[in-house]
Amino acid sequence: MKMSTLGVHAGRWDFKERGIHASPIDLSSTYPVTNLEEGRQSLDDFANGAWQSANPIYSRLHNETVFLFEKAMAEMEKTNESVAFSSGMAAITAVILASKMRGRHILAIKPLYGTTDHLLSTQLLDVDVTFCEAHEIHDNITEQTSLIYLETPSNPTLTVVDIAHVVAQAGDIPVAVDSTFATPILQQPALLGATYVIHSATKFLGGHGDVLAGVVATDSVHGKLLRQVRLMTGANLHPLSAYLLHRGLQTLKLRVEKAQENAVEVVEFLENHPMVHSVFYPGRDSSSKEIVGRQMRGTGSVLAFEVHGGFESAAEIMKSVKLVTPAVSLGSVDTLIQHPAGLTHRVVDEETKRKYGISEGLIRLSLGVEDAEDIIADLERSLLVAQKRLSMSMKQDLV
Ligand SMILES: *Cc1c(COP(=O)(O)O)cnc(C)c1O
Repeated sequence: MKMSTLGVHAGRWDFKERGIHASPIDLSSTYPVTNLEEGRQSLDDFANGAWQSANPIYSRLHNETVFLFEKAMAEMEKTNESVAFSSGMAAITAVILASKMRGRHILAIKPLYGTTDHLLSTQLLDVDVTFCEAHEIHDNITEQTSLIYLETPSNPTLTVVDIAHVVAQAGDIPVAVDSTFATPILQQPALLGATYVIHSATKFLGGHGDVLAGVVATDSVHGKLLRQVRLMTGANLHPLSAYLLHRGLQTLKLRVEKAQENAVEVVEFLENHPMVHSVFYPGRDSSSKEIVGRQMRGTGSVLAFEVHGGFESAAEIMKSVKLVTPAVSLGSVDTLIQHPAGLTHRVVDEETKRKYGISEGLIRLSLGVEDAEDIIADLERSLLVAQKRLSMSMKQDLV
């Protein structure tokens, strides 16, 4: 079935039969075990990573509302299973911990979300990480390599990584793709051979800025591993959040497409603005355009732009916006603006920031579903405030 249909019905196919219309919210933390024989069997099943069993036993082991959202996500990503977590970072942590059952070496491609970069760069999870470029994967694989990690489009500079090219170098080593910026509407990494498709569900999947969550779509073998990690480490998704996410999927395609239309108009506006030095958006340069054409159905609704006047200009714009919300996060129905060097990527080392263009004048914008005209008017007015401040300070420098 087509994505619009899947978004509305995934994980709900038997609702008519069950006589229900909305997903039931099951808040039980524990479940009666009247048949101890059955209880023992279910506990064994979950300890071995089963997705469901006769008795849920305890909500860290299984929850119906979370399960329905997971089924829906698997359908949309074209994978056998998916595993939901309490946040995107919890999902990423579980993927790394699961990889340790195979070896202790990870290859990762920058740029990455600030906290992911931070997690991989510290020794917190006791893994060795080599950062390299997409074309250097093959040469950096060792006996111990157990995971290849990438993000596309990347946060915050919208670099596009060729997933199929990385998968081709990986052999039988699992490739994890953080697909948060694309959502299953714009790309399905599993169809290109990725083993783990990771989402910070906090962003587009929830879509309304009121849920913190993560999810990993994967095959049955790796689904089992992730559930074993989740059972032992306890970063479970709350059923209320699962309900909101499952509902969010029903409008995901509409939201992603409307926000993308807005982004295309805003890119056009920014590229022609005298205060803007450069605009970062998938498919704007010829090499990324070719990859986008092969692996994505659209270019999305997150962009970044560099303004003249560095930090002072960026701070002035963040202060001046009225309609646009100055806040981290992305993929919400409202347009969000933020300063990566000062906020989301503050924890990233200076060399990485320099190398990947995370400068003091860089601003990230996540388009919402408002009217493009109103968003542009707000940006235009804010850019003018920054422009005036900049020309004043340049005059002062001359005096
Ligand atoms: C926000 C984000 C994360 C982290 O997700 P949380 O839900 O905030 O834990 C990971 N990757 C990307 C690309 C993100 O944008």
